[in-house]
Amino acid sequence: MSEHEAGPVKRRGGSARKPIAHGTYRGARQHRYRKEPLCRPCRDAENAYQREQYARNPRKRAARKQTQYLTEEEWQARVAARREAGAS
Ligand SMILES: [Zn+2]
Repeated sequence: MSEHEAGPVKRRGGSARKPIAHGTYRGARQHRYRKEPLCRPCRDAENAYQREQYARNPRKRAARKQTQYLTEEEWQARVAARREAGAS
């Protein structure tokens, strides 16, 4: 008597089988995760979410990008400060 296990095939990627929460930002992300085109409600929800994020802190992305680059004003101020320090 051989005890060979022949159970049902285990499901993989359980998270991919969850129903999509359509009409929400999460739903939009679920579509993206599955590489599906977003349905209308999800696309609207995502747009609204991103607009809201952008409205809350519009500088966030720009600020992150500019960390390496000084603005013209900042640069001038820095140069002026350096000259002042070196002059005296
Ligand atoms: Zn959807």
